[in-house]
Amino acid sequence: MIKKRGIKILTEILDLKDIKVLSQRIHDGIGIILQTESIKSYSICPNCGTKSDKLHQNHRHIVKDLPLAEKPVFLEINRRQFKCHKCRKPFSEDLEFVSKKRTYTKRLAQKIIQEVLENDIHSVASNV
Ligand SMILES: [Zn+2]
Repeated sequence: MIKKRGIKILTEILDLKDIKVLSQRIHDGIGIILQTESIKSYSICPNCGTKSDKLHQNHRHIVKDLPLAEKPVFLEINRRQFKCHKCRKPFSEDLEFVSKKRTYTKRLAQKIIQEVLENDIHSVASNV
C-alpha cells in the first residue's frame, strides 16, 4: 500500500500529461530512474487519423528529465507502436513530452535553453 502511494506521489510530482509512474529506483552515481507508462490505451494514426488500440510493439528507452532535489532524473518511457487497421501499417505513438528520437524531455531542453539565455543576458550586463 505504502509503495503504491509513493508511486502516486511520484506521478503527481512528475506532472506529465497522461503519464503514470510504475516504479522507481536509484542508481548510485547515475540518479533516479522512473519507469513510466502512458495511461492511454490507444493512439491516433498520423496517416489517416484513425484511433488504434492494437498494440504492435513496445519500444522502451530512457530519456533525461528535470532533476529532482538536485539528483538527475531519467524516465524509462515506452513509445508504443500501434497497428492501424485501416492503413494496415504500424506507427509509433506521439508522446507530448518528448520529441521523437530525442534522449531528453522537452521541458529539460527548455530549461537548458532558458539557462543559456539568462547566462547570456548576465554576461552582456556585466560587460556593459
Ligand atoms: Zn491509418
